Amino acid sequence: MRYVILRDDDTNALTPPECLERLYRPFLDAELPVNLATIPCVTSHAKRPDGELEGFLWAANMLGADCYPVSAGSVLANYLRANPGYHVAQHGLHHKPFEFDCGNRAEVAERLETGRHVLEQAGFSNSETFVAPHDRFSRASYREVARRFRVISTGWFELRRLPPAWWPRYVWAKAKGRAHWRVNGTLLLSHPGCLLSYMRPYDPMLETIKAQIQQRKLTVLVTHWWEYFRGGKADNAFIAVLHSLAVYLHQQTDLKVISFSELARENLPLN
Ligand SMILES: [Zn+2]
Repeated sequence: MRYVILRDDDTNALTPPECLERLYRPFLDAELPVNLATIPCVTSHAKRPDGELEGFLWAANMLGADCYPVSAGSVLANYLRANPGYHVAQHGLHHKPFEFDCGNRAEVAERLETGRHVLEQAGFSNSETFVAPHDRFSRASYREVARRFRVISTGWFELRRLPPAWWPRYVWAKAKGRAHWRVNGTLLLSHPGCLLSYMRPYDPMLETIKAQIQQRKLTVLVTHWWEYFRGGKADNAFIAVLHSLAVYLHQQTDLKVISFSELARENLPLN
């Protein structure tokens, strides 16, 4: 059996639930879990590292505030809670570019706790997984996140950013060619880049994903809901690729789509 985890990043208080519904209805109907890396309290100034405003700031829903917390009773929270196929992971706090590329443990801890509190207040209390904005972690962040979460999902690992106490484990995993590893009970998962992205050609996308899934026991597939609705307009060709993936994943008897929590709970093989 091979395992696939689907991770969609950047859901936030401004995200129209209709966008998620359009993308993920085929997954939910087929009982394929969808992990939403959710920004607890998005800043309206969220910028990419190149200085451009982030595409997940849905302009039509912005009301001039500095921050927008996910809140209990909002249409988004109600929609997510009504569909148990969604699993909420914590994605930073405000999604400032380098908020977890910070060497101050107290600051990092405060951001983690504030984010957790916002999600709990909104009704999402069992998040066991953390995703850092732009995959940027400092050593202090890795330490503080590992104290609070069972799973860290990121793009790649760099020795110099890891706590030195973790180095032997990481070096061993790397020498063995392992994409995923664990330290003190925390699972550290990498992913093979954003294969589901509008910046890649659509025609070979599904075949590329199929080939990647065959290369390891567990593959984390990352995408971003707002990439399918750039400028407020649905990219039907891109959405069709995502839906063809749902059909493929549903039909394969030797593939199982799981949530991050299931991975942590069931102690499934990582590599
Ligand atoms: Zn993000």
